[in-house]
Amino acid sequence: DEDPRIHGIKTKIRVVPNFPKPGIMFQDITTLLLDPKAFKDTIDLFVERYKGKNISVVAGVEARGFIFGPPIALAIGAKFVPLRKPRKLPGQVISEEYILEYGRDCLEMHVGAVEPGERALVVDDLIATGGTLCAAMNLLECVGAEVVECACLIELPELKGRGRLKGKPLYVLVEYQ
Ligand code: AMP
Repeated sequence: DEDPRIHGIKTKIRVVPNFPKPGIMFQDITTLLLDPKAFKDTIDLFVERYKGKNISVVAGVEARGFIFGPPIALAIGAKFVPLRKPRKLPGQVISEEYILEYGRDCLEMHVGAVEPGERALVVDDLIATGGTLCAAMNLLECVGAEVVECACLIELPELKGRGRLKGKPLYVLVEYQ
């Protein structure tokens, strides 16, 4: 049975057809952020799931993983590590290339931010093909961290991104058909 808070969250996500390209149904979470109750419910649902699970690092994917990751990290007592687009991080980085629903890109992580054996949660707003989350997981595994789970607000199940997550679990609040 679905948590009653999920319905409220769903209604606050705005779907914008043909953005940023024809054929893409863009899931806009900025409208959710305008509603303090729905925004808090979103964070609370993740915190309730991950509190007490011994997660030491929340890794957020640029850019919308930077909105949802930090409040989750603070609430569960984990550090927050930003996984950024190329040439944004000033220190020494490791990089991972990936293919997006609309383009090709790369994620980078600071060397030394995550240590071997750390238990990591990867956060983004949405999973489409799964390429972004797969790249994020590769960065963490590359430095010897254990990815416990990936968490997103929204899944586009038709794109079967879940199957690209290297056998690790994915937790989502909302599916968009
Ligand atoms: P993917 O790597 O294909 O799973 O794409 C996921 C990434 O692209 C996430 O960072 C999303 O924010 C963004 N993205 C892909 N498709 C959409 C969509 N239909 N609406 C909003 N964001 C999307």
